[in-house]
Amino acid sequence: MSKHVALTWLLIITLTICLLSGCQRKVHTTSRTDEVLGTIVSATVNGSMDEATLSSALDAAFLKAFELENIFSAHTLDSELAKVNESAYAAPVRISDALYTVLELSLYYAELSDGAFDPTLFDLIKLWGIGTEDAAIPDAKRLKNYVNRHNYKNVILDKSNQTVAFTNNEFSLDLGAIAKGYVADEMKRVLEEEYNIESAMLNLGGDIVTIGNKTDGSSWNIGIANPNNPTSSIASIEISNQTIVTSGNYERFFEEDGVLYHHILDGSTGYPANNGLIGTTIITDAAVIADALSTATYVSGLEASMALIESLDNVEAIFITNEGEILMTSGITEKVNILDSE
Ligand code: ADP
Ligand code: MG
Repeated sequence: MSKHVALTWLLIITLTICLLSGCQRKVHTTSRTDEVLGTIVSATVNGSMDEATLSSALDAAFLKAFELENIFSAHTLDSELAKVNESAYAAPVRISDALYTVLELSLYYAELSDGAFDPTLFDLIKLWGIGTEDAAIPDAKRLKNYVNRHNYKNVILDKSNQTVAFTNNEFSLDLGAIAKGYVADEMKRVLEEEYNIESAMLNLGGDIVTIGNKTDGSSWNIGIANPNNPTSSIASIEISNQTIVTSGNYERFFEEDGVLYHHILDGSTGYPANNGLIGTTIITDAAVIADALSTATYVSGLEASMALIESLDNVEAIFITNEGEILMTSGITEKVNILDSE
């Protein structure tokens, strides 16, 4: 028997043994849930590596999330953001790479959305207290006073020194509409780059980030909550390796005299945004962009938001109007299933 024939036989025998014994490596799945930035974060990773390695991957991703929470939380006094709010008017403050990146993106999307997304609304947000026990309709005069104080143009970044400065002390920063997206992207990066994870889904309070596909190779099928009945889905959408971020009036709110006051504020009026949309969903590659745009489009309303998203490459959106009508950008129609929803 020639060497070539012997090798061919060896290969056939090995393959047969493999097939009979199921040599396809078993896929393991591990999950973890924790609270980050006031949101329940759950993550599921799949891979042929052992479960201990998958757990380590999840631990590393959550560690990164907790590290970032210490930077971005506006409400904890010792966060990096709180320190900036304290001292950026007195003198420029040198900031971390993560905070600089998110602030730079915030100012970019504030400009792009004509101030609909505005990272300088913290005082107004605190005045309403939505999501806290003290949530209440503010006194109209006080509210009016606050409306004139915020303006993202008063935040000055200096790239070469990596600093931030405020041109007056009448406002402070809140990155609650974008930081969660950044955290989601960073968790994904840790899983991919440090642990070679090729299949995962992260859910940060309804903001979804995926890596690759499901273990059977098919796309992830993600439900979009019905704002009028958030435990049921109004539509579902197929994605691979992408992110879906939703802003809705049902996430944090209080009710008074039958009126719902939710947590996304319109800086131009000082009141919860009320421009015809009750749910906005953005589908793209980076959650930080999706997060900024979901908030921006919620505030801007249907017409301006449809035009904005259609003008952006590789970004799609689904909008739900006050009347419950579902509208979407042209690039996503084939991937969306409208569901029967009560
Ligand atoms: P969620 O945090 O529920 O996913 P968003 O991404 O839309 O929803 O962020 C809402 C949070 O962003 C609010 O709780 C508040 O901290 C902040 N915020 C509210 N209105 C605005 C706005 N117009 N621009 C930027 N941030 C905002
Ligand atoms: Mg957002």
